[in-house]
Amino acid sequence: MVVIGGGIAGLVVAYDVLRRRPQARVVVLEPSAGAGGRIGRARVAGVFIDTGPDAFLARVPGAVELAHDLGLGGDLVAPATGAAAVWSRGVVRPLPGGLILGVPSRLGPVLRSGIISRRGMARMALDEVVPRRRVAGDRSVSEAIGSHLGTEVVERLVDPLLGGISAAHSDQLSVDAAAPVLATAARQPRLMRALRRQQATAGARGQIGVTEDRPVFLAPRAGVTEMVDRLVAALPGDVLQCGVGALSLSRHLAGGWIVTGTDGVERRAMAVVLATPAPVSATLVRAHSPRAGVELEGIRYASVALTVLAYNRTSITLPPGSGLLVPRAEGRLMTAASWWDHKWPHLVSEGNVLVRASAGRIDDNRFLAMTDDELVQGLHQELSQVAHIRAMPVDWHVARWANSFPQYDVGHNERVDRIEAALEQDAPGVVLAGAAYRGSGIPATIRSALAASARVV
Ligand SMILES: Cc1cc2nc3c(=O)[nH]c(=O)nc-3n(C[C@H](O)[C@H](O)[C@H](O)COP(=O)(O)OP(=O)(O)OC[C@H]3O[C@@H](n4cnc5c(N)ncnc54)[C@H](O)[C@@H]3O)c2cc1C
Repeated sequence: MVVIGGGIAGLVVAYDVLRRRPQARVVVLEPSAGAGGRIGRARVAGVFIDTGPDAFLARVPGAVELAHDLGLGGDLVAPATGAAAVWSRGVVRPLPGGLILGVPSRLGPVLRSGIISRRGMARMALDEVVPRRRVAGDRSVSEAIGSHLGTEVVERLVDPLLGGISAAHSDQLSVDAAAPVLATAARQPRLMRALRRQQATAGARGQIGVTEDRPVFLAPRAGVTEMVDRLVAALPGDVLQCGVGALSLSRHLAGGWIVTGTDGVERRAMAVVLATPAPVSATLVRAHSPRAGVELEGIRYASVALTVLAYNRTSITLPPGSGLLVPRAEGRLMTAASWWDHKWPHLVSEGNVLVRASAGRIDDNRFLAMTDDELVQGLHQELSQVAHIRAMPVDWHVARWANSFPQYDVGHNERVDRIEAALEQDAPGVVLAGAAYRGSGIPATIRSALAASARVV
């Protein structure tokens, strides 16, 4: 079997296939120098810090189980604080309680937070009194939530939280694909009432986000990259071939497939798992399944930059909490910031305070035209307006994640159904895995890899 792509999806496919079939011949092709894809780290001010994901949802299946399998079960830690804030209407305000993926389930906490204007609150209150008609089919998050609570709640809370997870815009984001829990509630006559009912059930609580009491997120003590290190270490030495990408995929006359690598080597396999970003997978399958190729190309990607800024401890006073989200309505370069020292106090840099700040969304590529220096300068200036900062950072790192967040546009689930059906018919033995299809976070990506491995086996 050939696995194309050595991000967490590709690694988990190889790991799980070999766990089930130790005699199987498995190769993972990865063009970069190292595995992990978007899971990475950099050394800033003397400490290693995640430059992609820094935690995963703990109460949905996938990541916690894998961590246990990899011997990291006793090593999982929750962020020391999950109390986030939002930079809304010019002021940093703590997020109100009772949010489900950014959607309020109660009026009172939102009113007290000051995030929403009086007019916006009046609109939101209508949800409690005016029942909405049941709407069938997928809708955008803006439409599904906005029809109940008004546009201001969408712009100031839902978009930064739910849209922010994948650098998406709520106007295009599929409620069915991005937040099935919300989709179900939004089909009820009164959204907040439905959410309050859902909150009582464990299933919904697992997907709530930042305002729950129990830890929602977990990460290995040394950082999320530890999962990648353990996966790589668990694979036999000849499985992972870094520095080699897949150039093309062709049919073998005697059955199965030939994967030609950038090293010119042809590798024959009965099964091929495409654990690559959707546009790369499109290029590889287009000749064999034009239908799948076209649909894969239709999955858009957003680019983001994640910067890590290290400030001398004497020159910065951070606000309380874990960090803040910035609604696009504020017009800032920064989309979010997290106070690393508050979240992960066991990973702090001596003498320095670390901040992660990001820029870029599906409709905001300003950072692409900026040099690293300009980007750091721009983010530093905005941070200086919310934290008490008296000097420039002493060290910094910029991770540019080009085309990194797959966009789950309205109709995404149906699109993925069509892609899978087309591949099954046109290219049997070619299977997809990864963040572009049935959930874009680490746990869902791991589940997609396990599903791919089960099919291949
Ligand atoms: C900045 C950032 C922050 C995030 N934060 C979180 C978080 O806090 N929690 C969370 O759960 N998720 C988070 N995510 C999402 C998470 O990173 C993804 O769900 C996950 O890493 C996707 O893994 P993947 O294997 O599907 O894709 P990728 O990691 O993109 O792996 C795909 C691999 O394919 C390789 N490839 C490309 N072309 C070829 C080719 N021709 N041949 C062979 N290989 C090829 C690439 O080099 C890459 O290694 C974040 C993502 C980013 C970018």
